[in-house]
Amino acid sequence: MKALEKRISEEGEALSSNVLKVGSFLNQKIDTAFMFEMGQEIACLYKNEPITKIITIEASGIALALAAAYYMKVPVVFAKKSKTSNVSGEVYRAAIHSFTHNCDYNAVIPKAYLSSDDTVLIVDDFLADGNAVIGLASMIGQAGAALAGAAIGIEKGFQGGGDALRAKGVRVESLAIIEKMEPNKIVYR
Ligand code: 5GP
Repeated sequence: MKALEKRISEEGEALSSNVLKVGSFLNQKIDTAFMFEMGQEIACLYKNEPITKIITIEASGIALALAAAYYMKVPVVFAKKSKTSNVSGEVYRAAIHSFTHNCDYNAVIPKAYLSSDDTVLIVDDFLADGNAVIGLASMIGQAGAALAGAAIGIEKGFQGGGDALRAKGVRVESLAIIEKMEPNKIVYR
């Protein structure tokens, strides 16, 4: 999505060789019209799939998931992050390593919100090593639901998570794929 690449190049800040800050339009201050353009693009990419639900992880995936779900006319379920391993109730759970915080957390989704009747699209703002998508896919598997694929705002292609998922046969569509990131230069795939 050229408009996203332009926005990243104009407003993104490479905080290090592998962390990109896009808080001015995507992660903290949200450009709602632009977020919905991204959501519409995702809906278009997956228009031929019989998707019944979108899942994402709190917090920063929710806005893009909501925008895509609005155009796809499906509900969004977000996994909650829980530091304790003894979450009560009937839940699907996955241990996920957080790229940004460098720690492990449990992601949980109540069993009532995901079932074997669902065909699910995973949506997230970023894809780096792929751990968030793998954790969400694990919960989709626990539910016996079908995985339609993943739709990502910004994939950092140089970290390899997206290509590893594609190699396993998972459909991964990213609106922008960054191949190389330097303080004043971002190269797209
Ligand atoms: P992964 O699990 O693929 O390694 O990382 C994806 C998750 O980490 C996303 O949910 C996203 O919130 C966060 N993340 C990964 N890389 C970045 C980044 O460069 N910038 C920001 N803002 N978040 C990131």
